[in-house]
Amino acid sequence: MALIVQKYGGTSVGSFDRIRNVAQRVKALVVDGNQVAVVVSAMGGVTDQLLAMAKQVSSNPPEREMDVLLSTGEQQSISLVTMALLELGVPTVSLTGSQAGLHTSGTHTRARIDNIDATITNKYLEEGKVVIVAGFQGVNEEGLIQTLGRGGSDLSAIAVAASVHADVCQILTDVDGVYTADPRVVKDARKLPEISYDELLELASVGTKVMQSRSVEFAKKYGVKFEVRSSLNNNPGTIVTEEHDSMESVVIRGVSIERSQARVTIIGIPDEPGMSARILGALAEAEINIDMIVSNIAHDGFARHSFTMHTNDLGRAQAALKPVLADLGPTAQIESEAGIGKLSVVGIGMRSHSGVAAQMFTALGAAGINIGMITTSEIKISVTVDEVQIEDAARVVHTAFNLDRPPA
Ligand code: ADP
Ligand code: ASP
Ligand code: MG
Repeated sequence: MALIVQKYGGTSVGSFDRIRNVAQRVKALVVDGNQVAVVVSAMGGVTDQLLAMAKQVSSNPPEREMDVLLSTGEQQSISLVTMALLELGVPTVSLTGSQAGLHTSGTHTRARIDNIDATITNKYLEEGKVVIVAGFQGVNEEGLIQTLGRGGSDLSAIAVAASVHADVCQILTDVDGVYTADPRVVKDARKLPEISYDELLELASVGTKVMQSRSVEFAKKYGVKFEVRSSLNNNPGTIVTEEHDSMESVVIRGVSIERSQARVTIIGIPDEPGMSARILGALAEAEINIDMIVSNIAHDGFARHSFTMHTNDLGRAQAALKPVLADLGPTAQIESEAGIGKLSVVGIGMRSHSGVAAQMFTALGAAGINIGMITTSEIKISVTVDEVQIEDAARVVHTAFNLDRPPA
């Protein structure tokens, strides 16, 4: 007998047939003698519909109220999945995030989990009941509902698995594992048998949305080993775990893309202390998430800084930088550009192999794809390219690193 925590994402509970399928799968685990807790997302598309509903009545919906609204999506699914299991004769109870003891803090719509009190979940599990927990939501110290950011049910699942000391944690989704690239974009992407927390964390933070990045961070912190697999078949999935020596023999584990990026460049910045802080401080104050930051040493006494952000934030960034520009003096000018894509390659093998960047840039150059900005970390290289070329760029680089072939 094992204690199994499963998470079913939006597509996996996206129709009544799918919900019945989830119930059948959970029942099979129970029949085999396992204890099961299941975290579910809202039915596919429901969270987007709720967001659209808010826009109908408010130009700037308050985040506290957004959380009240958005959390209803998951509340629908827990009751429906529970009913489907009861229909199959499996004793089951549903729990909201608050009832499951998911305590959160921080900003509404992107709260973090502080701790989980698994008392109620454990009580039901010990009574032999299946527990269906609403993903994506928790409750803060004031008793207010908070949500965990898009894709946050992954985080709920990892947190529940940690809190009940699950033997197995499975993230069930519409692909049967983590692939070398998004299989919707790169058709010869391969399923990875395993990947390290750090690699998946890097991939998730640069657009690989199969797992929410904060959930991977949480799993690493609390040592929750988990598997990503399909809710529609029984194929073995991808194990996400601590890295081990043999993982370093593969240089690049995966390729990831992000679309809808924009670039802002400020030129003619006087080469004096405090200038970068002024610029980035203004963006931080406006709560604009900037991503790549590229700066060059000053030339003729003037520096330049470029950074990328989501296109949706471009207008606000320009507004936030306007007063700063006046402070920087008459030489400073702002340039911006939308329609940018970001391509990243990730692999812990990069630590021990050289020439990876050269190989990537050569492949892109040979395909006639121009590189804009470049940033690197210990296990990641990211470049910007014209957004219309982003999918081609992903395929070219995927092939250049032989990711379409099994490792030798
Ligand atoms: P869920 O609703 O189950 O949370 P998501 O839509 O959030 O599922 O994540 C699954 C999707 O992630 C897949 O349909 C796939 O298109 C996408 N994806 C992007 N990159 C990858 C990758 N490297 N491996 C697997 N899936 C990926
Ligand atoms: N329903 C939420 C979303 O669509 C959370 C999740 O599915 O993980 O982002
Ligand atoms: Mg998801």
